[in-house]
Amino acid sequence: MRRVDLANIETASNETTRNINRNLALNLIRARQPISRAELARLSGLQRSTVSLIVEQLIREKWVVEGARGRLPRGRRPTFLKLNELRAIIVADVHPGSAILALADVSGNLQWQETIALSQDPKAGVKQIVTAIKALVKRHPDRIFEGIGISVPGGVDDKQQLIFAPNLKWTNFDIRSALERGTGLHVELENAANTCVLGEIWFGQTSGVSHMAVVAVAEGIGVGVISNGHLVRGLHGMAGEFGHVSMDPNGPLCQCGARGCWEMFASNRAAERYYQKASRKSSGPSFAEIMQLTDKGDALAQKALEQMAVHLGLGLRMIVAAYAPETIMISGEFAKQWHRYGTLLEESLRVHILAGAPPRLIPSRDGALSRLRGGIALVLQRYSSLSHK
Ligand SMILES: [Zn+2]
Repeated sequence: MRRVDLANIETASNETTRNINRNLALNLIRARQPISRAELARLSGLQRSTVSLIVEQLIREKWVVEGARGRLPRGRRPTFLKLNELRAIIVADVHPGSAILALADVSGNLQWQETIALSQDPKAGVKQIVTAIKALVKRHPDRIFEGIGISVPGGVDDKQQLIFAPNLKWTNFDIRSALERGTGLHVELENAANTCVLGEIWFGQTSGVSHMAVVAVAEGIGVGVISNGHLVRGLHGMAGEFGHVSMDPNGPLCQCGARGCWEMFASNRAAERYYQKASRKSSGPSFAEIMQLTDKGDALAQKALEQMAVHLGLGLRMIVAAYAPETIMISGEFAKQWHRYGTLLEESLRVHILAGAPPRLIPSRDGALSRLRGGIALVLQRYSSLSHK
């Protein structure tokens, strides 16, 4: 289980060597647990005595616990180390009108989750999240809460402020500070697509993340890109807003003010619109209902998702032209229908590849859960020297 590419770890000049070694050890324990001190020394390249000191500190701080004793052919029986399961991270995945809250341990295991309704007003919405988190903390008095990782559908700048969110409309409100004040916990805020990318780096199965794009499909479409091994953020963190590139100037009006944006044709909301239009009724099923109807063989639902898939594929060409990724991962509920629509997407993409092989197109393994895993990574990366710029 290799989670962090140690070759890419850069030593930050403002951190002391001790902190860097501590984070290195912590990351290795997380990635290779259960692990012995000897193995930790071998993998980290640190002296056995240094490793022993760091481990004692980590045990004192309740980050690491000693587990089972190992068996060797002869001699001493080493005690294995693992991360303390009681150290917890809270994740909030915010959507327009609702949020998924989850509790995870620092090893990245999701232990509990619930969906709460959210007000359209940012102040009231954040208050609802705070209330739910406080209740969650109260229910788990044995946990040591490390922080909150929150993903939002929109552009997040370097100060972790939401500056562009046409579907959520929570800009001009300091979500992060309000959450920190309300809960007393440290908060890390990030764009949903970038959150998915981080989740993939930390917990994913893709080996080699030098050139990769994650397309987060939900109410809108967000794109997170790793290019040459770095998360692309751009000026004010606004890189990757492909969802708002217009594909048809006469198309439907998008929340951003433009017409015919990619997400108007390829998001969950687009599928809802396709269905409603085809049914000739004043209202139609939600995306979740369309997904269920598809499984039941509903022709309109299947047609709606087919249209969504074709348009997703069309838009992927922008990402290929801009970044030439080796892998494109599609995350979101739509990924659960990969067995039906994955081929359509691939075909739509393949026709217009300029040179070489088309990128590998894959669904995220666990649909909407990739954002939650990313939320865990948001908090964890504070303890890693893995570059996040
Ligand atoms: Zn738009």
